[in-house]
Amino acid sequence: MKTNYLCPNCRGILNVDNDLVLSVINSKKEHGLLLLHSEIGNYTSRKSDYFKIEKGEKIELHCSLCQANLDSKKHENFAHVIHLSPTGHESDIFFSKIFGEKVTHHVDQEKVFSYGEHCKRYADPEWFL
Ligand SMILES: [Zn+2]
Repeated sequence: MKTNYLCPNCRGILNVDNDLVLSVINSKKEHGLLLLHSEIGNYTSRKSDYFKIEKGEKIELHCSLCQANLDSKKHENFAHVIHLSPTGHESDIFFSKIFGEKVTHHVDQEKVFSYGEHCKRYADPEWFL
C-alpha cells in the first residue's frame, strides 16, 4: 500500500497514484481542478491552461469529493489534508494556498517537518501545533 491523502471532512481518498486531485476556486470565482504531486516537497502541479491562476494568487481549495473547504483552521494561508502512511498511520499536512508559494508543514504528533523554499516566510513554528 502506498501513501494516501484523505479529506479531513469526508475522509475520502484525494489522490490518484501520484496526484492529489483538488477542486479550486480562483480569485475571479472560477472553478477548476488542480493536481498536486503527492510527494511532500515536490511542488509540481497540473491544471488546464484555460483555468488561470496567477502566481501569488490565494486560491480556495476544496475536496474534490465532498466539496468541503480544506482551509486550515490554524492559519488563513494554509490548507489541511490528512496523510495516511502505508502502515495506516495518520498525520497532518498543511500547505500554502498561495499559488507558487512553496511551503509545507508535516505535523506528526509533536514533531514538525517543514518543506519548501518559502517556509521561512512562516517563521513562527508553533501556530500549527
Ligand atoms: Zn471531502
